[in-house]
Amino acid sequence: MYSFFKNIYKVLTPKSWQFKIEPFIRKMVYYLIYKGGNTTCLICSAKSKKFIPISFYNSDDKICPNCGALSRSRALGEYIRKNFKNQSQKILDFSPHRSLNNFFKSIFENYISSDFENQFYAQKSYDITKINEADQRFDLIICFHVLEHILEDKKAIKELNRVLKNDGHLLIQVPLKKGKTYQDNSIISKEGRLKAFGQEDHVRIYGEDSLPLILNENGFSAKPIDIVKEYNSEEKKIYGFSENEVIYVCRKATST
Ligand SMILES: [Zn+2]
Repeated sequence: MYSFFKNIYKVLTPKSWQFKIEPFIRKMVYYLIYKGGNTTCLICSAKSKKFIPISFYNSDDKICPNCGALSRSRALGEYIRKNFKNQSQKILDFSPHRSLNNFFKSIFENYISSDFENQFYAQKSYDITKINEADQRFDLIICFHVLEHILEDKKAIKELNRVLKNDGHLLIQVPLKKGKTYQDNSIISKEGRLKAFGQEDHVRIYGEDSLPLILNENGFSAKPIDIVKEYNSEEKKIYGFSENEVIYVCRKATST
């Protein structure tokens, strides 16, 4: 249903306007239909009748009707708020949702977001395979649902390693399947990629067995953590979290 309305909105609204007026449209729909209820968004604090289900590969994500944050964004925002408390730490975030970008900017003094293809709200436009920043610049780097779009992912991981401080943290999440990564560079059509990798702009589907290895080969030790593990089923419902939300917490192999 959500995708249906989104497609109508895209057809009826000029492209240059879509991104600008999206928050207003969302607010209007929120006040008319969803306002008030038992759920709480941890990004915008809005209470809603429900979160709206949206289907992605291997995920039961739901969006907040008020700010548009996904389950994974709400879980990530709360995880970082709780675990990375230094407000002056330097943070680099790749292609965050607008609501998450605003949330982090309201908490952290030195937060920078980047988006290479101008699809997201961001301050910078870095090529992740060639980041225009000095070595060891950031305490925390967030790379959520980005690497599966990048053909030269090893080069990107090396760059993330270069700009991360030796004692810094890199948080990664990508769609995952069991076993090994599947990549076939001869598949270039949208339809082919959708079928092979789960989304028309993905260039591979990472395997649970392969991801830690590729991170390891390019300078990181990586630990999978379910960031919603501590919440019971009632809390997951209230905050609109997925059943599991596994991220990889990466440290530089040189750090202790
Ligand atoms: Zn929200």
